[in-house]
Amino acid sequence: MAKKLAEYEAKRDFKQTPEPGAKVPRKETKASRFVVQEHHARSLHWDFRLERYGVLVSWAVPKGVPADPKKNHLAVHVEDHPVSYIDFAGEIPAGEYGGGQVSIWDRGTYETEKWSDREVMVVLHGKRLQGRYVLFRTNGKNWMIHRMDPPLDPERKPMPERIEPMMAKLATAIPKPESPWGFEFKWDGIRALAYVEGGRVRLMSRSGEDVTPRYPEIHAMGRALGSSEVILDGEVVALDEKGRPSFEEIQQRMGLTSESEVRRKMKLVPVTYMIFDLLWRDGHSLLTYPYAERRRLLAELKLSGASWQTPPWEKGGGQAMLEASAKSGLEGVMAKKLDSRYEPGRRSGAWLKVKNRNRQELVIGGWLEGEGKRRGYPGALLVGYYDKDKKFVYAGKVGTGFSDAMLEKLAALMKPLEQAKSPFDVGSPPKASRFVEPKLVAEFEFVEWTRSGQLRTPSFKGLRADKPASKVVREGG
Ligand code: MN
Repeated sequence: MAKKLAEYEAKRDFKQTPEPGAKVPRKETKASRFVVQEHHARSLHWDFRLERYGVLVSWAVPKGVPADPKKNHLAVHVEDHPVSYIDFAGEIPAGEYGGGQVSIWDRGTYETEKWSDREVMVVLHGKRLQGRYVLFRTNGKNWMIHRMDPPLDPERKPMPERIEPMMAKLATAIPKPESPWGFEFKWDGIRALAYVEGGRVRLMSRSGEDVTPRYPEIHAMGRALGSSEVILDGEVVALDEKGRPSFEEIQQRMGLTSESEVRRKMKLVPVTYMIFDLLWRDGHSLLTYPYAERRRLLAELKLSGASWQTPPWEKGGGQAMLEASAKSGLEGVMAKKLDSRYEPGRRSGAWLKVKNRNRQELVIGGWLEGEGKRRGYPGALLVGYYDKDKKFVYAGKVGTGFSDAMLEKLAALMKPLEQAKSPFDVGSPPKASRFVEPKLVAEFEFVEWTRSGQLRTPSFKGLRADKPASKVVREGG
């Protein structure tokens, strides 16, 4: 063919004439195409495919194509696919290779700047992806994909590692409607922020502990979010047989470390993540947005699954919600100022908690021996809190609310903390008291604070492994 066309070729300058040339490479006549398919296989990933010499050269990218040059993502080189695959979207039947939903996440054309066995540099012209990317081989089938251009969105910021949760002040009643408030049910569980990126969820407790492995049923929320990057605020709750959040139940899920134990307890005490705030979305902080706007954006995510929910909230008086919460056996309601920003780590007056009964976290500072068969073992706990001057204040003794098993557990936890000296700086615990280093935090329910600053008829509700002792202060009147 080359010979036959030699004369034809020799007579023409194909840089000048629009006539087709014999050797004009395909890529100059037709732009090469790329596609990124979101693939909900057993493990969510994005398939990145470049059309080249009649096939789609392909990589599977578990966390998706990075939008930010600061983050390189793993890209696993996989077998070439036929060019017709570029339009494929649909369901691969379960049990088949790569079973699961495939959708087209982005498509467009690209130019090649470099192409070798270990490095592929391209400029993408898609809807979502625009700019220069490089894929480079690190080890066997493992490559990395890196964005070389600045982020498409110049305002885009990398997702923060950690935001401290905002806290609420205790109020004795629903606030007066002088400024507009929104109301939510108060969930009795474990506060957790969820950091979701590349379809993966990271759950952080209030004290900054990564509790992701402890709640496997929440991990699938990452799939539901696909490539959206968000930080959510919410509460992990366990529902009792009547469908009410039970703090006693969720204690069984706290502090577990072995994977087999987590799996076993997950079947007995499943949890639900109750989401009530959105703090970050796709490279942008929402902390300064008003509460009502954050709730609107949260609703857009339509987060509702087997183990995660976005419970309703309402504007208005709040009294009806408080009554409904009492009727349903819930702890109370949260009132949040509609125009308030999110204040990380602050116990702000813009958020109020109104409880149906008094609840308070306290630090265990010692114990009193029990009677009868409990001789030699704890029969009551001595509890306290820290005042404004960081002095440890004695708040009374608590002798009810725990099972024998819980008392055994408390005895074991207190043993290594034993000390001769009273940890209390203020107040006078009983003479026969045994003391411990004030490390263990637990939650108690009580009728009220007495005028002398003691708890009236307190009962033990559960340990709070998620709260640091030094942060325990007296709430409300
Ligand atoms: Mn795939």
